[in-house]
Amino acid sequence: LFGYVGIEAVLEQMKLKTIKAGFEFNIMVVGQSGLGKSTLVNTLFKSKVSRKSCTANYEEKISKTVKLHSVTHLIEEKGVKMKLTVIDTPGFGDQINNKNCWEPITTYINEQYEKYLREELHVNRKKRIPDTRVHCCIYFLPPTGHRLRPIDVEFMRRLGTIVSIVPVIAKADTLTIEERLEFKERIRQDLASNGIHVYPQKEYDEDPEEFILNERIRGNIPFAVVGTDKEHNVNGNNVLGRKTKWGIVEVENVAHCEFVNLRDLLIRSHLQDLKDVTNNVHYETYRVQRLNESNM
Ligand code: GDP
Ligand code: MG
Repeated sequence: LFGYVGIEAVLEQMKLKTIKAGFEFNIMVVGQSGLGKSTLVNTLFKSKVSRKSCTANYEEKISKTVKLHSVTHLIEEKGVKMKLTVIDTPGFGDQINNKNCWEPITTYINEQYEKYLREELHVNRKKRIPDTRVHCCIYFLPPTGHRLRPIDVEFMRRLGTIVSIVPVIAKADTLTIEERLEFKERIRQDLASNGIHVYPQKEYDEDPEEFILNERIRGNIPFAVVGTDKEHNVNGNNVLGRKTKWGIVEVENVAHCEFVNLRDLLIRSHLQDLKDVTNNVHYETYRVQRLNESNM
């Protein structure tokens, strides 16, 4: 019917637009203090995704018990700009009585949806609404080698409906190979038997190709991660690692731990999907609920 019109040029246009505009990506880390959350955040920034980046720090006071602290880095790779923000939540579940300890976290997440919604409802909408919504919540499990604790179940069950949760096993260098495999398997069983939905969820797989990729990830979660803020010399190369009496655990070595799997999931393979799920599923649920209750 038509001759060649060159529709594929749209790809180049889309790319240029994204490059010019840049994009925001917001990750939250949650877990008990001492599990290595802050260290892992540093590892993420220090590792290859962001060797050259600049920092901006600010603190946001939410409540006395949980003070959220976010760090934003502007990362530029091959001309593409990403504003990566990590929200650190010190001390989740540190109290003797942990009743409602997830509240400051749910409040924060919902506040960001509310902010976004208000911007959308403005008569004069901004050309680009600043996006502070939490695109992913990394939940740190202590490396006990046992099972999910009631507090883990409670947290993930509640938060799983408002944000994409990626559970990880913290300080995985403390587990032997068998302990690690068995712990991972037990956690997957516990997640399933408690009806907890973690990212990536089957319901949102869009095509068979994505299904196959995501099945592999679902069969391998929770990633057993190790963090560090130090570099060591291994065979003439500077590597991020933890030096112990019995050797160096290399954080970016897939034979040693699954930090790279986590980083690849977050940055390389699923970044856009995490943003889409946040916008199309979690934010949408919030929006519909709010508009219904207030008849806006
Ligand atoms: P946070 O309270 O969860 O932010 O934990 P931190 O990042 O402050 O780490 C607490 C302690 O654990 C520090 O001494 C870290 O050096 C150590 N640590 C952090 N990550 C790891 C890890 O992957 N393995 C081990 N063995 N220790 C870690
Ligand atoms: Mg910390």
